[in-house]
Amino acid sequence: MSLANTSTAWDPAEPDAIQCLQIVYKIAERCNLNCSYCYYYNMGDDTALTRPARASLDTSEALAQWLAEGCRELGIPQVHIAFHGGEPMLMRASEFARICGAFERHLGAKFDLRFSIQTNGTLLTEGWIEALRQYRVSVGVSIDGMRADHDRYRLDHQNRSTFEATEDAIERLVAESATSPSMMPGTISVLDQQIDYAMTYRYLRTLGVRTMHFLLPDRSADDASALVEVEAERIGNGLLQLFRAWLEEDNPDVDIRFIREALAHFEMGAGDALGPTERKKNQVLVARSDGSVAIDDSLIPALDWYSGVGDFPITTHSLREVFSAPVFAQIEEAEHTLPEACAGCAWTEPCRGGDLENRFARATGFNNPSVYCRTYKTLYAGICETLVNNGYPANQVKARFGELLHA
Ligand code: SF4
Repeated sequence: MSLANTSTAWDPAEPDAIQCLQIVYKIAERCNLNCSYCYYYNMGDDTALTRPARASLDTSEALAQWLAEGCRELGIPQVHIAFHGGEPMLMRASEFARICGAFERHLGAKFDLRFSIQTNGTLLTEGWIEALRQYRVSVGVSIDGMRADHDRYRLDHQNRSTFEATEDAIERLVAESATSPSMMPGTISVLDQQIDYAMTYRYLRTLGVRTMHFLLPDRSADDASALVEVEAERIGNGLLQLFRAWLEEDNPDVDIRFIREALAHFEMGAGDALGPTERKKNQVLVARSDGSVAIDDSLIPALDWYSGVGDFPITTHSLREVFSAPVFAQIEEAEHTLPEACAGCAWTEPCRGGDLENRFARATGFNNPSVYCRTYKTLYAGICETLVNNGYPANQVKARFGELLHA
């Protein structure tokens, strides 16, 4: 199925349009680390430093109440509060527990409410472990790989290693999960062309990690160059190393998002344009420490566009009014419109032109193939080849994607 010019009638401001509202709540807008690739502090958007360092309990109460009213009005049944920073564990654990309590009071009885937190792990205390256990908060820990790979970018403000503290946090959480399964951490790793991902996979498995997510470094299409093209191909090969290491272990309990999503296309084929009455599975909204909400900040690499969007104070806008802003329809339209230059590519189904932030260029907006186009082509061609080599019917692969090495 081609996604070219697939417009959607979906409107987030209409009732029953959203299944789950994911609030990425910036409870701490500072960080004890200074990762050089960080989109939040090192990509030209300095606004976080103008907001309160930590969200107050009053702001959190007001946000919880605002969400309860908004989700009731829009018929949203599920709310996922994802605590982020900066580094959210810069907040005291007792304060965090009170904030979770506020969300439970306002949302817990009427909505399917769940919590998660994304942390660098270096500030994990017994108090935090207790708070996470009490509110059944799913934990994601950021770790880029083994020591040398992790410490390439993830240093503190004095350029000191953070590896041991991060590894220790993962090991303690895994140990806690023996008696409290909700404590089992997942990991997030930013991809790098220099890393051996077969070794990274085996390392994370020795720590006991079962849920892994790998992120492309933040770049826009304006960053495209011959060097980035080489880097993109190496990253594609790194993802293939991961895929093959995962296949080799053959453990269905290990979940890696890009593999799960890629394989879904072999099982059923999938465009995900929404029908006119279908709910969107997950709608992201960022909530900040000052009581404002904004679009998904993973779009910061599209900075020229992103910085013009602005935010919405919850004191003056209902959730419905926020979702009535044209930018949400604009994002939805861009996500469902294949970049013109992608027409005819074999991989439009699983790739869809890539993530929006990697498609953005000042001159042409989102109408560009991902700066990681070469990553996707390397990855999908390699997955096809590996599957066929492992007995998957070659005719089915060809029927869906054309010749295997059509990249
Ligand atoms: S692989 Fe490249 S050309 Fe193909 S859909 Fe993705 S970004 Fe577009």
